Parts: sequence; structure tokens; C-alpha cells
Amino acid sequence: MFVDHAKIFLQAGDGGDGCVSFRREKYVPFGGPDGGDGGRGGHIYLVADPHMTTLLDFKYKPHHKAKRGQHGSGNNCSGRDGEDLYLRVPLGTVVCDEQGNVLAELLEPGQTYLAARGGRGGRGNQHFATPTNKAPRKFEYGEEGEKRTLVLELKIIADVGIVGLPNAGKSTLLAAVTAANPKIAPYPFTTVHPNLGVMELDAASRCTLADIPGLIEGAHRGAGLGLRFLRHIERTKMLVHLVAPPENGNIDDFEHYHYAWHLVNQELAAYTETLARKPQIVCLTKIDLLTPETVEKIVREFREREGLEILPISAQTGAGLDALKEQIRRKLCELSQRQEESTQRHSGNNMQSGAEASIPSGE
Ligand code: GDP
Ligand code: MG
Repeated sequence: MFVDHAKIFLQAGDGGDGCVSFRREKYVPFGGPDGGDGGRGGHIYLVADPHMTTLLDFKYKPHHKAKRGQHGSGNNCSGRDGEDLYLRVPLGTVVCDEQGNVLAELLEPGQTYLAARGGRGGRGNQHFATPTNKAPRKFEYGEEGEKRTLVLELKIIADVGIVGLPNAGKSTLLAAVTAANPKIAPYPFTTVHPNLGVMELDAASRCTLADIPGLIEGAHRGAGLGLRFLRHIERTKMLVHLVAPPENGNIDDFEHYHYAWHLVNQELAAYTETLARKPQIVCLTKIDLLTPETVEKIVREFREREGLEILPISAQTGAGLDALKEQIRRKLCELSQRQEESTQRHSGNNMQSGAEASIPSGE
């Protein structure tokens, strides 16, 4: 089962108490205070682990508690610190509070977040001796460990997001390009989540595609559901945007296609600017339903009116899918090169000011 949302209840360890004790030795009649400090309570950390794929574990076990610090003891002995607890979460985990404010995003392997702080140990009476009070009975209790309720959300990090109106054929395309290769079967995502698939680009490389339902569907059903799906495409590198012939209406009329294309772009922009700026490959899909003349006309109109080169495909017959794959491969290559160049510019040679180092513009 794929779980992308979990609420967890954390309790860090309490600090140990400080100790009240006095030195007692033969021939030392008034030994001074020697009560040690309490140990610190265990912290609770979240750690990003690339081998984890879901938040399922937290559904079964939402409560986690770290050990307390030991109390201090006589002879100036400090109590031992409580052991820190490390909870492993998948890459792409977003940590929020109960109000939905984002506290952290765990994106790099090994990245940690201090989720609940262990209590400080209390000081023992050794610290409280003064010239007027040489035998203090004063000490501190350990601090309580922090208690926190956090919401974890998993943002899938796919390379390519497929967008389009409902019934544009997103799921069909995903199945057509990712099921073709049996090598994808062992990949964890293919079994746990039907909306993600892996596509071989060439012998050496592959990419993950996510079918994003709910873009428009969710939007007019009320924000919640739609936004929940939209989260998942925020971090994709590029989008494949499907434009299909209208289900009712004249399938030769360019305006239908233009409207569908525009509506999806608007919806993306309404969510965030970064989403709208992602590079897109726009496809005219279901061309098996159209005459070659209509296909040619729609392609030409997009070129003339929007300066947009759209790719005709059919997920049903497989027409154009090799060309699509090739375009995806080239675009991802290009994007990773640009990324590399901009990292190099930032790390080494700072002479060139990197105006183009930011997010690549859409085409
Ligand atoms: P989604 O809502 O975008 O995921 O759309 P689906 O993939 O579920 O497809 C919606 C409908 O369109 C289904 O009945 C599909 O069989 C059909 N469909 C998808 N792609 C094609 C195509 O290339 N040609 C034809 N003729 N039908 C298609
Ligand atoms: Mg679908």
C-alpha cells in the first residue's frame, strides 16, 4: 500500500534531575556538595532514507518516544544522556505542523530534521554553593522532553509529469510507455502506486513519469483533492501536456483544442508560477480518431498562433510514441546539462554572473 500522508506523535526524552549530595569521607568533616547533573533526554530526528518509498510504517506506528536522561548522582557524577531516536522517512518527505505550515523538506539522502528536542538535564547541588551557603540543598529537575504532533507528506519526485484535462488519456499514455518494458516490474513504485511508472530512455538511462489526475477534476470539486495531487508535480523537471479531441463538439475545430490547452496552463499557473514555467512537451493525442488532414491542421494552427510545435501521438495505436520518448530524453538531457553548468558557475568561476542560472523557461 502506498501512503503519502501520516500524522505522527513524538515525545522526546525528559532530562534527568540534578542530584543533592555531599562529600562524605573519613577525616573530611564538612565535605562540600557533590551532586551531579542530570543527563539530557533523547532527541527525535527524522532522517531521509533513499530506500524508503512510503510513509506506511507511520500509519501503523504513529507514536514515538525517546529515552529519558539518567538522574545525576553523588561524587559529581552526571547522568547519562538519553539515546537519540532516528526515524527514517522517504526522500521527498515534507514535514508540516498541524496547521499545515511547512517546517522542513527532506530531499537529500541523509538529511536530518530535529523533530522533538530532548529536555535539558537539571543541575546538581555542586553548582549552587555560595560563600554564604556552603551546603546547598538546591538542585534542578530535568526539563520535560518536547512533545510534538507533526504531519508528514510525501511528494513524489518524478522526472516527468503528465497533465491534461480529464479523459485526455494520461493514464493510457503512462501505461503505454511504461508497461512496454518488463524491466520496470521490480521497481518499487510500479507495484505500490499505479500513477507512477518507469520508462527506459536508452540502454543507460531511464526516467520516472507520474500521471497527475485531479488537476481540473479536483479544482472544481473543491480545492482539497486537486491540490493534494498537484503537490506531486511541483518537483518534476518537465511536463507532458496532452491535448485530446473534444468528446462532444466538432473535432475539426481548432478552438476546442486551443481552449483545452489554455485551460490546463491556467490551472497550473493558478497553483504556482514555478509549475507554469516548467518546460512542456505538448502532444495532440488520440490522433487515431482524427483524419490526417485534421491532425495537420491542428498542428499548423498551434504553430502559427502560439508558436508552439505540438507532437501528434496515439497511446492506443502507439503512433508517435517513439518520437515522444526521444523528445523527453533530449529535454531531460538538456535540463541536466543546464543544471550542471549552473552548479559549476556557482561553485567555481564566479566571474560570469548567472542570469540564466535559474529555472529554465518553458518552450
Ligand atoms: P485520463 O483521465 O487523462 O487518465 O484518461 P484515460 O487514460 O483514462 O483515458 C480516457 C479515455 O480515452 C479512455 O476511454 C481511453 O481508452 C481513451 N483513450 C486514451 N488514449 C487514447 C488514444 O490514443 N486513442 C483513443 N481512441 N482513445 C484513447
Ligand atoms: Mg487517469
